[in-house]
Amino acid sequence: MSIMDTTFATALNCMDGRVQLPVNAAVRAMFGVAYVDTITAPGMVRFLADECDAAETKAVLSHTRVSLDKHGSRGIAVAAHHDCAGNPGSEQAQKDQLAKAVTFLRARFATCRIVGLWVDADGAVQVAVPAPSGHPDRVEAPS
Ligand SMILES: [Zn+2]
Repeated sequence: MSIMDTTFATALNCMDGRVQLPVNAAVRAMFGVAYVDTITAPGMVRFLADECDAAETKAVLSHTRVSLDKHGSRGIAVAAHHDCAGNPGSEQAQKDQLAKAVTFLRARFATCRIVGLWVDADGAVQVAVPAPSGHPDRVEAPS
């Protein structure tokens, strides 16, 4: 696979090393892309749900625009996970933040397919907040 002939999606993930590979694999499969631009912060979803005025939030949005505009990213997956050091809280509290994060992102990237992912204690990735049915990819998928 040439690095000049690529398809991308965007992951907004925790910085936790345990969740990088599972989220990368899930996002590649879900969006049918070769590569995943990955933007991380400790406990990513809190910056997109409850601390939206933080410098981290502005940086995440700016970095996401680079992925969308320069790489033609097909969509965005935002992830939260079990045992998050950067965002300690119950699974339900984190999933509530995840839903808020998806809403926050959809308001800013309206044409973009956006999903929320939950990584459980076994490292399995679940789609906690699916894209609306029939929502097109931002970029036409190759036939
Ligand atoms: Zn974490």
